[in-house]
Amino acid sequence: MLSIKRNILLNPGPSTTTDTVKYAQVVPDICPREKEFGSLMEGLRKDLVKIVHGDTQKYTSVLFCGSGTINIDVCMNSLLPEGKKVMIINNGAYSTRAVEVCQYYGLPHIDLRFPVDQIPDMTVIEETLKNNPDIALVHTTHNETGTGILNPIRKIGALVHRYGAVFTVDTTSTYAMRPIHIEEDNIDFCMASAQKGLMSFTGLSFVVGNRKIIEESADYPKRSYYCNLFLQYDYFQKTGEMHFTPPVQTIYATLQALKEYWHEGEQAKWARHTRVFHAINDGLDELGFRQVIKPQWRAGLVSSAVYPDDPNWDFDKIHDYCYERGFTIYPGKISTTNTFRLCALGAIDKADIEEFFKVFKKALQSVHVAIPVRYGD
Ligand SMILES: *Cc1c(COP(=O)(O)O)cnc(C)c1O
Repeated sequence: MLSIKRNILLNPGPSTTTDTVKYAQVVPDICPREKEFGSLMEGLRKDLVKIVHGDTQKYTSVLFCGSGTINIDVCMNSLLPEGKKVMIINNGAYSTRAVEVCQYYGLPHIDLRFPVDQIPDMTVIEETLKNNPDIALVHTTHNETGTGILNPIRKIGALVHRYGAVFTVDTTSTYAMRPIHIEEDNIDFCMASAQKGLMSFTGLSFVVGNRKIIEESADYPKRSYYCNLFLQYDYFQKTGEMHFTPPVQTIYATLQALKEYWHEGEQAKWARHTRVFHAINDGLDELGFRQVIKPQWRAGLVSSAVYPDDPNWDFDKIHDYCYERGFTIYPGKISTTNTFRLCALGAIDKADIEEFFKVFKKALQSVHVAIPVRYGD
């Protein structure tokens, strides 16, 4: 096997992959309608449920060919009964994306906004549920990847269920990293894509959720042809295949990534991401960077650092200096504050972060940013 140049991706996905996962894509050409391919898909779908400790009788996974946003699109447009409303608990960019999906489909919705650096207020959530008995679907994001804040999904889910609504959670940036227990966490549907926690490639996304609710949704209004949850589920049930062409090579890579996931183990993998996250925070602290999210609210996977008040600060130049040396850093996603992000996803460990900070410090020096970095107030 040729060794491939190893880049350390500190962006919020796609993440750094192992060479064995990269090479798993190189397979003899196959038509995905062959039985051989179908049987691979069956095992894959069960594994995706097991990662969130779901009982495979009660929960299933439904695959789509697309990036992670396709899951948000699918859940919003497929799981809303006629004449009912969606509520989105929104404290960041990814929940805002769900609001935009509702706008595009013309779905009646409540955009329940909270500040991006704050945990949603449970009393406000409960009041809104109480005052709007037509809310049938509630959606939020687990780790708001725009900032790295962790939303208390278990508590929110309990409340949502008390008011008889279905709870969908965007777990794209926690799935297969931070342990999730679909049933205990009160989740009806969660979602992810192969290029994040699983450390595989872009092109395969999936919704893991409650079979009974999917079956009930058979009669709900059909608002999309390609992105309907029931249609895709039903086709799987009848044929064991995806309705339309699957991302064949990404599926082979993901099967290898799953082997590596079970081999590393849920707890050990989470411990590794935590180690990486602590190394990132230590490095940022040492250079004097401020972060957006309070330590106790961080999901442990994304650090959002505030741009220093230094006339020499130049994100693009700093990015390019690091990029040329194999490290990718990423801009923030908050409209009111200028930030950049360093993420703990991918097949990386503490030593990679220590190497990164040597390069990052040199990058700051190369543009003459004062160290420790300075803030105006
Ligand atoms: C990455 C991510 C997505 C998907 O984004 P794509 O650009 O479509 O891959 C969705 N939700 C969250 C929380 C994410 O982190």
